[in-house]
Amino acid sequence: MKLDEAIAAQKPLVQSLLDGVAAIGADPPGITRDAYGRGENEAHHLIRQAGEALGMQASIDAGANLSLRWTAEKPEAPPIIIGSHLDSIVQGGNFDGAAGVIAGIGAVAALRAAGITPHRDIEVLALRCEEAVWFGLGLIGSRCLLARLPQGALELRHARTGKTLAESIAAAGGDPARLSQGTPLRDPAAIGAYLEAHIEQAPQLIEAGVPIAICLANPGNLRHPFIRITGEDAHTGLPHRFRRDAALAGADLSLCLEQLWLAEEAAGRPMAVTIGRFHTPVERHSLTAVSGDFEMSLDLRAYDAAHLVALEAKLQDIVAGARADGPFVDGWSGQSRLGLRHHRCTTA
Ligand SMILES: [Zn+2]
Repeated sequence: MKLDEAIAAQKPLVQSLLDGVAAIGADPPGITRDAYGRGENEAHHLIRQAGEALGMQASIDAGANLSLRWTAEKPEAPPIIIGSHLDSIVQGGNFDGAAGVIAGIGAVAALRAAGITPHRDIEVLALRCEEAVWFGLGLIGSRCLLARLPQGALELRHARTGKTLAESIAAAGGDPARLSQGTPLRDPAAIGAYLEAHIEQAPQLIEAGVPIAICLANPGNLRHPFIRITGEDAHTGLPHRFRRDAALAGADLSLCLEQLWLAEEAAGRPMAVTIGRFHTPVERHSLTAVSGDFEMSLDLRAYDAAHLVALEAKLQDIVAGARADGPFVDGWSGQSRLGLRHHRCTTA
């Protein structure tokens, strides 16, 4: 069979695998495949069966990542790895991650159907726990491979089952004791190439009218998960000049960050600002209360470490600049905290 025909012939296989992982994670309006839990485990099982049906050799590493290897008769070079992750966020999209793993299975099936024997092994890799929602730490499978698990990671607890990461890895067939040795499971020098097909999380391809593109870089991030702005609780009867309104300070900070974002983009430095949480305290906020407390999260993304360092400095400048006029900073560690003396609007 010609290669293009062989590729087209894999459509039913690819569709059935995508449908299969969707059924495992069905959680309307999206899908939920919890990492090292039922959802991810069952998806790994399904992909393993599909790979074995193609004659691929399955193995599980100490991080419970699944490897499916199509062994070349006379391998001449380090393998090509095709992979991604099979977990999802809560009510996420079916294609995120899964499409990359299933693309690998589809590619192997097409090459086999075309009668092509590769000169090197092709390995499909299903990595564990890419999403940070399950243990408060992302990329766990990849970190296991390269011995990059941070201190204490194995004691983190699963958001749903409450089991530790070590227990969850062991239950999924991994070996947490091996991971705590702190040495890589794979030698990067022994990997010929790594390919990951991934769904675009934006409509830029649609906008450009092209079906696929090559990603030139992945952004890194700088996170302040728990920014707290503190002002002073008051009643709506308090005139503007007396207020220390933490909610307005949060809005002010956010708009300053958007200005920074637009300026950086205009200067040819792509980045992103995401404020995922943004709220007054839910247990006591009300229609007529001026809030003395405000909470928000901040995720800044950029494409190189030096840019992220520069952005953090600019963020500090924004906060310090507002300080004379409004909020002041107590510190920016993991538990970022902003104190509010006066919201800048009150002195403007
Ligand atoms: Zn993904």
